[in-house]
Amino acid sequence: MTLAVTLLGTGSPMPDPNRAGPATLISASGGPLGDDGAEHYLVDAGRGVLMRLAAAGLGAPNLTAVLLTHLHSDHITDLNDVITTRWVMTFEETPLTIVGPVGTQSVVDHLLASLEPDIGYRIAHHEDLDHRPPVTVIEVDEGVLELPDGQGGTVSITCGQTDHKPVEPSVGYRFDFDGASVVAAGDTVPCEGLDALCAGADALVHTVIRKDIIENLPLQRMQDTLDYHSSPAEAAQTAAKADLATLILTHYVPAMPISGTEDDWRALAAEHFNGSIEIGDDLHRVVVEPRT
Ligand SMILES: [Zn+2]
Ligand SMILES: [Zn+2]
Repeated sequence: MTLAVTLLGTGSPMPDPNRAGPATLISASGGPLGDDGAEHYLVDAGRGVLMRLAAAGLGAPNLTAVLLTHLHSDHITDLNDVITTRWVMTFEETPLTIVGPVGTQSVVDHLLASLEPDIGYRIAHHEDLDHRPPVTVIEVDEGVLELPDGQGGTVSITCGQTDHKPVEPSVGYRFDFDGASVVAAGDTVPCEGLDALCAGADALVHTVIRKDIIENLPLQRMQDTLDYHSSPAEAAQTAAKADLATLILTHYVPAMPISGTEDDWRALAAEHFNGSIEIGDDLHRVVVEPRT
């Protein structure tokens, strides 16, 4: 039994040669992770997500569902690629479920509209492709997520509201599997909705920015980002409040190494949290162990 987190993209809106845009994979399997029966949930779909998924040995057809934390462009940049690649790389009609906050349906409708010429070309050109991309959107705010029949089922997913205002609404997700659980917070400041998701969980994946660096940059546009993200210290305080075992930081702004080493980032969180603190490059994987 394995519940694992893979940081597919640890970057941010700023293009980085070494870090893809925000995306995290939550995988659950009764056996080894490569099992056919494994479930793979993609949380956010930033720049380069399918390249990183390929590096993890997976493709768009392997995704059980895509879950969006919010509709900031850097978190959904490559959603169109996920939709199209899933569609053209499967030979039977394979529905893709996209879960997200209110507003997700409209974004997906507009994405599909932008893909309309391509959809027409491919259906006209491939005799065996007789259907359009089968996409189902589920908009959520809080509570247990019900996926369509035949999708998922092994992992229990709970949604909760986060606070990324003025980006509203935004949601986090908790994944429970075989006694282990991990929360994917997305972009948020500390808030009750996230605390509720974390209560009794084992691990938390949290996006972070180095506020101590950004507040000294003479750039108003960077300083604007301070009030709706968490610092490593704030993410650590959320993890400590829920007495979690593991805190996984991602979405490093400014990027390393300009903003210091992994140890520098870890030290900021370790002042507030005694558990294990995971920081890494793209494809860093953390297995979430159940509490004993
Ligand atoms: Zn955001
Ligand atoms: Zn972000």
